[in-house]
Amino acid sequence: MAKKKRILTGDRPTGPLHLGHYVGSLANRVKLQHDYETFILIADVQALTDHFEHPEILRQNIREVVKDYLSVGIDPEKSTIVVQSMIPEIAELAVYYLNLVTVARLQRNPTVKDEMQQKGFEANLPAGFLVYPVHQAADITIFQANLVPVGKDQLPMIEQTKEIVRRFNALYKEVITEPEGLVGDVARLPGTDGQGKMSKSIGNAIYLADDAETVKKKVMQMYTDPTRLRATDPGHVEGNPVFSYHDAFNPNKEEVAELKDRYRKGKVGDVEVKQRLHEALNAFLEPIREKRATLTQDEKRIDEILIEGTHRALSVAQHTLSEVRSAMQIEYPFRRT
Ligand code: ATP
Ligand code: MG
Repeated sequence: MAKKKRILTGDRPTGPLHLGHYVGSLANRVKLQHDYETFILIADVQALTDHFEHPEILRQNIREVVKDYLSVGIDPEKSTIVVQSMIPEIAELAVYYLNLVTVARLQRNPTVKDEMQQKGFEANLPAGFLVYPVHQAADITIFQANLVPVGKDQLPMIEQTKEIVRRFNALYKEVITEPEGLVGDVARLPGTDGQGKMSKSIGNAIYLADDAETVKKKVMQMYTDPTRLRATDPGHVEGNPVFSYHDAFNPNKEEVAELKDRYRKGKVGDVEVKQRLHEALNAFLEPIREKRATLTQDEKRIDEILIEGTHRALSVAQHTLSEVRSAMQIEYPFRRT
């Protein structure tokens, strides 16, 4: 039997997971975990690059993120769930990769540019933040991943990873696998504020663990079409996050088409469109919440999953790193094992 190809992907434990994670990456992970050997990284080291003053946030969220994974259908028997800081081999690989990237190239990364602006780093940009895409290249390649299911904001990271891999393989020896990105059904789900992507850090997210009342409240307060003042004004469907969510989560396509038609003609109010939306979202989220409720009763099981996952991941990481050191001619005979 041919060896299974590998997936690596992950999330920063900066908060619980949201609808954007689901459509951008989680749904693909759930689908592909049967056919690929899957590694899922909880990226606490990366999250420290902009949360180094608040490590407690990451600590609090690690188990919550694991519960989110399990409640959407990630199977810990099929997918290896790993905490990044527990695999120091990643940090070592990232140090070697840093030599293969210029500062100018890092400064051109469009996602890093956006995030720097959003976080207001300006002259006080932490060096660790600027180089986090290099760290991410190490995350992906320490597992020799073939495929990386991510949202659109992560594609520049995959590009940068490919460049590093090509450089490494050409310079030393062909030992690192070049990965491909795989974007989900919705490449970039907008936030409830309609400003850019749904993100944990911006406070514009509907979380997978939100209860029905919270979802309803968030939906009813959502940004819609700013040009439309009255329900009788013709409205815009494109770029309207309420309709983006209907497209992504309302399985009743006829209802969505009919609402869009009436919206464009000024024949339906925002309230009705939002009402249909929170019903659809709550129907989607209910089984996820039920699964989550059963997990909350077994915190010990969550820790066991992380211990087992880290154990499996460590052996893969050590193997890759030993090949890397050999390729770089730094696998010295006096290495301590
Ligand atoms: P933070 O604000 O801390 O960066 P985040 O909400 O951006 O958090 P990440 O942990 O950075 O979430 O992203 C994890 C994965 O989910 C990545 O693959 C990312 O591309 C994807 N993702 C995050 N937000 C969205 C979104 N709104 N639409 C589609 N994919 C998303
Ligand atoms: Mg992010």
